[in-house]
Amino acid sequence: MQDYVRRILTSSVYEVAEQTPLDTMNLLSARLGAKVLLKREDMQPVFSFKIRGAHNRIAQLSEAERARGVICASAGNHAQGVALSASRLGIRAIVVMPTTTPTIKVGAVRRLGGEVVLFGDGFDAARGHAAELAEKHGYVVVHPFDDPDVIAGQGTIGMELLRQHPGEIGAIYVPVGGGGLAAGIAAFVKFLRPEIRVIGVEPEEAASMKAAIAAGHPVALDQVGLFADGVAVRQVGDETFRICRELLDDIVTVTADEICAAIKDIFDDMRAIAEPAGALALAGLRRQVETGEAPKGALIAINSGDNVNFDRLSYVAERAEIGERAEALFSVEIPEQPGSHRAFSRMHGQRSITEFNYR
Ligand SMILES: *Cc1c(COP(=O)(O)O)cnc(C)c1O
Repeated sequence: MQDYVRRILTSSVYEVAEQTPLDTMNLLSARLGAKVLLKREDMQPVFSFKIRGAHNRIAQLSEAERARGVICASAGNHAQGVALSASRLGIRAIVVMPTTTPTIKVGAVRRLGGEVVLFGDGFDAARGHAAELAEKHGYVVVHPFDDPDVIAGQGTIGMELLRQHPGEIGAIYVPVGGGGLAAGIAAFVKFLRPEIRVIGVEPEEAASMKAAIAAGHPVALDQVGLFADGVAVRQVGDETFRICRELLDDIVTVTADEICAAIKDIFDDMRAIAEPAGALALAGLRRQVETGEAPKGALIAINSGDNVNFDRLSYVAERAEIGERAEALFSVEIPEQPGSHRAFSRMHGQRSITEFNYR
């Protein structure tokens, strides 16, 4: 881990990335009876931390590699990080995106100076095509997570956290997709402050690190839920797995409804709108406070990003109430006979109904 600490301390991410604020969540802290802080990686220039890892990798390329250009396959935040970093350094960046990628994301990458290649109808096809183009034209592949320089770039967040909160920290909650962010933060924090718990958080429907740790090696999930698209990774990396298995204290999984409730918490405290993967860590933090598993001391969650389509928000708002357990959604079958509806009404008694559909 010493090697990672050295890479993190000497990283050049601040050429393009910001040191983001570590904000106290006053409302949520009062509600939970714990000091909760949020690391605002949504305030990076591309609205996610991915610029750190991408830049730390690209900035270290040799002159010859820079002349060849870089390539990545991504429909999301990694693509924007690669495009921004490369354009700042005057390097060509090719981004392979599935043909199904929303035009808003294609446009964002182009505006940052990336050359977009649309290929295939899924991420695996896009990645295969990127590898082919790299082979053919000599582009340098920038992996979204399974690369020591990328991991170290994300790890600069751990360094900032320890400086920004020198006092007691009970735990740091980190969202896990391919595991680069968690590996980087854990490598730095566990080296200097091993008493701080570093806890990975995954959606129940995309728990690839949990599955890897259970199996003893990275495994491909049969199915991956796409709700938190920033962490919808079928299989974690070899290097990220090696570090996470050794250094993470625990992995918590949460439901989509709990993620929606955490998006609302962030809005209530900060007036910021997190993407589902961005609020994932806070959902895990809340879960551990509620089950009594959270340690004493300040609790920190990483808000990893804000890239959400506006039209998703109505869904999030609706599910947040369910995640809060303030509202529940039931599907019931009632007999097709007179009086059935009245009998059903008696059953729910004084509880109020916000929506009712009958068919
Ligand atoms: C990429 C990403 C993650 C997960 O990071 P990994 O290094 O793949 O584990 C979490 N949140 C957001 C917003 C992301 O873009």
